[in-house]
Amino acid sequence: MSENSAPVQPPTRLISHFANRERSNQPSGWVELWDAGDTEYWDRGKPSPALIDWIESRPEVLSHSTTSPSRLRALVPGCGKGYDVAMLALHGFDVYGLEVSKKAVEIAEQYAKAELREPSAHNFGSAHESRQGNSSAGEVKFLNTDFFKEGWERDIATEGFKGFDLVYDYTFLCALPPDMRKDWARRMSEILSPTGVLACLEFPLYKDLKAPGPPWGLRGVHWNLLAEGADGIIGDESQRETGELNGKFERVLYFNPERSYESGRGTDMFSVWRLKATK
Ligand code: SAH
Repeated sequence: MSENSAPVQPPTRLISHFANRERSNQPSGWVELWDAGDTEYWDRGKPSPALIDWIESRPEVLSHSTTSPSRLRALVPGCGKGYDVAMLALHGFDVYGLEVSKKAVEIAEQYAKAELREPSAHNFGSAHESRQGNSSAGEVKFLNTDFFKEGWERDIATEGFKGFDLVYDYTFLCALPPDMRKDWARRMSEILSPTGVLACLEFPLYKDLKAPGPPWGLRGVHWNLLAEGADGIIGDESQRETGELNGKFERVLYFNPERSYESGRGTDMFSVWRLKATK
């Protein structure tokens, strides 16, 4: 299987590194890459422009829980060097970055410390000064653990913690083999607060669903997993939508962001999900 028509070659070394690797050895595969310094496959060098613009637009779906005096709590799983973690803290969130690689956490801690001390311009969008006011930065913490290992969320739970107000996924779901997608969706439903939202920068959407990853093509996968409650493994493109909404989530926002990374080739979509109210 190859992506012959793609104008840019897929990172074949990344794909071969994970080829035939069992699910239980996925985390060690990432740890090896970090330890070898092979991060150029995914490192975009700056936080997500689409996330910055959305946060700075002061979205309604995030403001409904601001009646609480404490800061909103965010999580970035598979946060890599922590670009989005630092950026969210600079926008007033208390943020956890989660990484299976110790090396990544060490690098991210240094990065976040430097950014909080002296923020780079790339953390802010055009709406920053006019809309953000003087909100001070939140706290940053990194967790060196496996997202799928239940328990870390209980370890960090403080009194009254009912889950995250915001979870941001960019290049985490697409890093996982397709048979882990259902667990990704289940874990997301477990760690979100009942009023919290899962924001996803859907990528890569230009890539054939059957082409090997990582990154694995995700066109239609978020909807299949979160809204339809299916396993996220879409075989036939023509039958992508089952029409049944048995998932735990409802999509409250879906748009093509004005700014995103070039690697998305203009196809990235931004989707925001919240848990359906349980009866
Ligand atoms: N979001 C980051 C990194 C994307 S690459 C960025 O945009 O730069 C995917 C990241 O997920 C890698 O850093 C990898 O170490 C991490 N990862 C993969 N599986 C994981 C798991 N099970 N738990 C936590 N982190 C994981």
